[in-house]
This record gives sequence, structure tokens and C-alpha cells, in this order.
Amino acid sequence: MSDQLIKALAYDDQIRIFVVDATQTVSQAQIYHDTWHTATAALGRSLVATLLLAANLKGEDKLGVQIKGSGPLGMLVTDGNSQGEVRGYVNNPHVALELNSEGKLDVAAAVGLPGLLQVRRNIAGGDPFTGQVSLISGELGEDFTYYMAVSEQTPSAFGLSVLINPDEKVLSAGGFMIQVLPGASEETVDELEKRIASLGKLSDLIDQSQGLSYLLEKLVGEGNYRVIATQQVAYSCPCSKDSFTESMTVISPSEIMEMIKEDHGAEVCCHFCNKKYFFNEEDLKQILERQAE
Ligand SMILES: [Zn+2]
Repeated sequence: MSDQLIKALAYDDQIRIFVVDATQTVSQAQIYHDTWHTATAALGRSLVATLLLAANLKGEDKLGVQIKGSGPLGMLVTDGNSQGEVRGYVNNPHVALELNSEGKLDVAAAVGLPGLLQVRRNIAGGDPFTGQVSLISGELGEDFTYYMAVSEQTPSAFGLSVLINPDEKVLSAGGFMIQVLPGASEETVDELEKRIASLGKLSDLIDQSQGLSYLLEKLVGEGNYRVIATQQVAYSCPCSKDSFTESMTVISPSEIMEMIKEDHGAEVCCHFCNKKYFFNEEDLKQILERQAE
């Protein structure tokens, strides 16, 4: 079964809520990058958050997230679009830390404070917008919640979950984003806060046998929401030889000459999907010609 995201409105349209099952998406990321469990959890949570943020985009809009902490992971990079496609990578995929004092994957230690969370939005026809906050926890759910409050002035709550088997296989991944819409009553916000606080283990609620609406019901109550849209989501990298040709035109001509003379070509590898592209001498000469234009 493919991954799915549900967009809904709850409490008489006072609350916007997105829930996502990203189990296949995060499994794919784990396989592409051979991430170890703490890195899988961190990259997985970033991918889930990116899917949730991107669910507010329209048409050709895109967004990119960068999380740069001081821990062993280095930088986490993800991007997503309005079609539910997401991709990402982490500088150091082989991070496997001891469980934290609560017996959970220690994402906060792997990310490491101090650090920054940056979200860049490319809205079709407009100027790109970049918002940035300092990391406040490193567990990422709280950091995205903080980002939305500070940088986008939208009171929100994120829940992000990745459950991993001892053999590194991703058992489940997913989460939710709740946004309080203008005009929502205090009673609604209070009740929602209580519900989130008593939710229990999020990974138990992203159970494929129950379906994604189970999580929705637990969050806002049965019959208390209406579904606006359901969308397929997936790990997807649109890279191509053409896109790499484009990015190689920024390399200095002298470096390209060196690739021609010494290596008789160049191999580039996509960070997001590990696909390799080979540029022979003729390809490199064409890049030089383009630069000279
Ligand atoms: Zn790629």
C-alpha cells in the first residue's frame, strides 16, 4: 500500500489538520542512504515534517528544509512539493547512538544544539521566502512547532514519529500537523491541547492495519472533522543528466579542463537518490562552450 496524506478541517473548521503515513517514503530514504537507526529517525522525521509543510503548497510551489545542528549527523536536507513528492539526505548516515534515558532513539543528541532550522519556500510567481529559527530541542517536532509560531506566525503543533526494527528496517513513519485558524475559540484550543497531551505513543497510532483516519480520530475526535483531500505521497527525486549539466556550468572552466585532461570525463552522484551520471569529454566540452556563450 502506498503512503497517504489526509487534509481535513476539524471543530467546525476552526482547526486545519494534516495526517500522513510515510512508512514507504522513509523506508526508501533508509535504503537509498543506508542510514543507521538514529540517522534514519532524524531524516525520517524531517521528511515527515516536510511532507506536512508541503501539503499547504499549491501548483508548482516547492519548499526546502535545512537542519544544521552541532551533533554527529551534520546537516539534514529535505525538499518537497505540492504533489506529495519528497526527498532528502543527511551528511553522515551512519549514526547509531545509544537510546536516551526514556528508552527512545536519541534524535536530539544526533542533531545536537546549538543549531538552526531553515525553511525556504519557492512560491510560483513570487520571490523565494526563507525563514529561520534556532533549534530549541533537536527532537525536531518541537523545533518545527517553534518555527511555525515564530517565523510564520501560525500556531501549530507537529507530531513526528519513526519506528525502527533492530535490523534497521523502518516499521512505521508518519505524523501530524495541526494549525489553529484565525477565529478559533479558546475552548477549542484548550481541548485540542488536552487531546494532544494525552495522545500516548504516536507510533502506536500510525498503524497501517487501522488506517490513517484512526490517527485523525484520536487527535480531534470521531465525527468532529471533514476530509478536504486525500493525497498519495512518495519519495521521489526528479534529477536528470540535464539538471546536473545545469549545475555544472557554475564550475570554473579551469576545473572542467582538468577533468577533461586528467580524468577524461567526470562522474557525479545525486545526493538525494545516489544515481550516478557520467559526463564524457564531449559532454564536458559542451559545458565549456555554454560557459563561453
Ligand atoms: Zn536524484
